[in-house]
This record gives sequence, C-alpha cells and structure tokens, in this order.
Amino acid sequence: MVWIRKFFDVLFPRPCIGCGGRRLDDGEFLCGLCHDHVPFILPPFCATCGQPGEMEYEYPTEDFECGLCRKNTYRFDRARSLGVYGSVLKELVHFFKYQSHPGAIGDITLLIEQNLKEIGETYSGLEIIWVPLHRRKLKERGFDQSYVLADRLARLCCLPLVEGSLCRVRDTPPQARKTRAERMENVKGAFEVTCPERIAGRRLLVVDDVFTTGATVNEVAKVLKRAGADRVEVFTLARA
Ligand SMILES: [Zn+2]
Ligand SMILES: [Zn+2]
Repeated sequence: MVWIRKFFDVLFPRPCIGCGGRRLDDGEFLCGLCHDHVPFILPPFCATCGQPGEMEYEYPTEDFECGLCRKNTYRFDRARSLGVYGSVLKELVHFFKYQSHPGAIGDITLLIEQNLKEIGETYSGLEIIWVPLHRRKLKERGFDQSYVLADRLARLCCLPLVEGSLCRVRDTPPQARKTRAERMENVKGAFEVTCPERIAGRRLLVVDDVFTTGATVNEVAKVLKRAGADRVEVFTLARA
C-alpha cells in the first residue's frame, strides 16, 4: 500500500529527525540542511586509529599518531570513522539502531558515499566483515545494524562481504557508562571465528556503528588476527 503511505506523507510529512522540520522527499529522514551539517571527520586525524587531531594536539601533522596508538593500544591496523558522534549523526544512529528504522540506511548510505568521495577512500583490496549482534539481540531488534552498514559499504566500494564467519558467542552487557578498561574486559571472549578458512590470510575491513573507546572492534580484530587475518582495518559510522 505504497500509495496510501505516500498520500499520508504528503498530508502529514514526517519531521526531519535532525531539526524537527519537515522532511523534503519520500523515503528520507534528514532534510538537506541537516544532511549538509553532519560533521565529517576530515584530516588531520591519527594515521592509525583515526582520532581527530584537534581533540588532542595543537599542531598535528598528516601522519601523526595519537598517544594511545603510540602505546600500541589497538590490535587493528587502521580505523576510520565517517563523522563525530553528536547532534545530527547521533540522532540518525539512534533512529536507525534503537528505534529500529532500517529505512534510515538510505540517508546513511548517501552520507557514506559523499564521505568516501571527500576523503578519497576506496578500501581497495579489503573484504568486508561486521561486528555481529548476539542472536538474542538480533531477535529483539529484528535486524543487525552493522550488517546493514557493511552490506551498503560493500556495494558502494564493490568489495566482497564475508558472511557467516564471525559470531558473537556471548551477549555482553551494554558498553555505555563503562570505563575503557571495563569495556575491554566486558567484550573479552565475546566473539568467535566460525569459519577460519574465510579469515586466514585475508585483508579485512570490520564495520560497526560507533567507535567509542574502540574496545569492541579491537576485540574483533584480536580474534580475526588470531585466526590468521593478514590485515584488519575498521570503519565505523561515528566516533564518540
Ligand atoms: Zn533537518
Ligand atoms: Zn590513534
């Protein structure tokens, strides 16, 4: 009954989730203005983990490494995020993830496409994998948001998607309001490679929604490297 929905959309346009104003086009959740105001993370950022330069350093160079990376904190080789987890992007992620509106992936895909173009990123030579939800959470939410993101990124970059090879074996408590050390401990042993022959010797790009301390993607990187992955990079939609 698409026409009925369209009819109601014309009469009562759903508000833009960023500013509360009216949305402009059918199937969109962000108005053009909010779309243009998503704060992309642009250079300079830490060459390894992607931490924006201005957060920690006054005069970062193009290849600077943040304090955490200089201490070899992470097991992944490189991480990048599309934007800062605040205002519009936070609203969009919440809408997509917690209010179960997978339709918001349309707006998100446009942002990813625009961001890749802007920073000249292609992720060429990598295969895409994602941070999987535990099957209990998957049942609750109805979809795996990181899988949806990974699938879109794979299509945008024309890269293969590695499916059914990584599993979340432990349903971990939420990471929010935990310290870095607590987060690392919380996700320890949460993931398992179920198909090692799809991982060994591969160059992988792990996709997740938000990078906060990096504890989750770091644990995934550890497990993938242990299974013989040659290289592990990370892409997250947002960086908190
Ligand atoms: Zn708006
Ligand atoms: Zn770093």
